[in-house]
Amino acid sequence: MIPTLGIVVPCYNEQEVLQTTIEQLSQIIDSMIQKELISEKSRIFYVDDGSKDTTWQIIESAAQASKKANGIKLAGNSGHQNALIAGLSVAVESCDAIISIDADLQDDISVIEEMVRKFTGGVDIVYGVRQSRATDTYFKKNSALLFYKIMNSLGAKTIYNHADYRLMSNRSARQLLSFRERNLFIRGIVPTIGYKTDIVYYDRHARMAGESKYPLKKMISFAIDGITSFSIRPIRMIFSIGILMLIVTLSIALYVLISYFGGKAWPGWTSLMLSLWFISSLILISLGIIGEYVGKIYIEVKDRPRFIIEKSIIDGQENINK
Ligand code: UDP
Ligand code: MG
Repeated sequence: MIPTLGIVVPCYNEQEVLQTTIEQLSQIIDSMIQKELISEKSRIFYVDDGSKDTTWQIIESAAQASKKANGIKLAGNSGHQNALIAGLSVAVESCDAIISIDADLQDDISVIEEMVRKFTGGVDIVYGVRQSRATDTYFKKNSALLFYKIMNSLGAKTIYNHADYRLMSNRSARQLLSFRERNLFIRGIVPTIGYKTDIVYYDRHARMAGESKYPLKKMISFAIDGITSFSIRPIRMIFSIGILMLIVTLSIALYVLISYFGGKAWPGWTSLMLSLWFISSLILISLGIIGEYVGKIYIEVKDRPRFIIEKSIIDGQENINK
């Protein structure tokens, strides 16, 4: 069976690039339909994330001109990740495989075909991974590397040099949508889903036009979101620092008492030093203990699925989770 492909494109104030993007993506879709790689019902879903420019008008006229282009307009700016989820939730209704890609076409669309071939070959999730970041600024390259290292050391599995350019099968996209948390850090969640995955490599281009919608402020808050929605290790650190301070307190106590009995201490200094260090470490340890419970509450509240069944054999009958 020839699969139906959906391409989800989040767009925020992209009037400078959108027209070109629409042309290029529909060309790709057409040529793949001709090669009988994907079905005639394949569609592109442009999600307008509350743009303030003419982005929606461009999407609207594209959607009226061709059935292949669909438009979804969010009522306000909900952010890249939520715009992606909005597009996915619509695409999942009609598509067997869904690719998400940025509107600025920094990610090479010529590997879409390879992604689809891998999907047809039985892979559920195909990650687009940047081979080179030659066109990114020195700062963007290194901040991205640092972010990746911090994320991984804090326990969130992310794929290095992969952003949100990926193909997901219908069933893996449905699993992604079953994560109900508000603060969704998609590129951290997807690897936890499981299923068969693969990678295609590509070179990242410079933005065609317009400017990045991720200024430093948004990038930092994105990074903090990513870390705090995956890890309660920062809380554990408070506890460890508390214990460390308690150990330091012991050696300071030794020094203070030696000075006191050696007659080298000012009146009041000894008791002040001892209580200052001891109480501080007690406070940190207590905060760490409370934090441990808060962390548990946080994990429970997110209500993530505990497992995802891929297939089962029951009474001799094989069931594949579609
Ligand atoms: N985007 C969005 N909502 C936002 C910010 C960005 O939908 O609030 C979209 C944007 O239109 C683009 C994608 O997210 O399609 C990635 O943004 P951008 O290319 O500016 O990020 P960069 O490549 O600089 O990291
Ligand atoms: Mg970009």
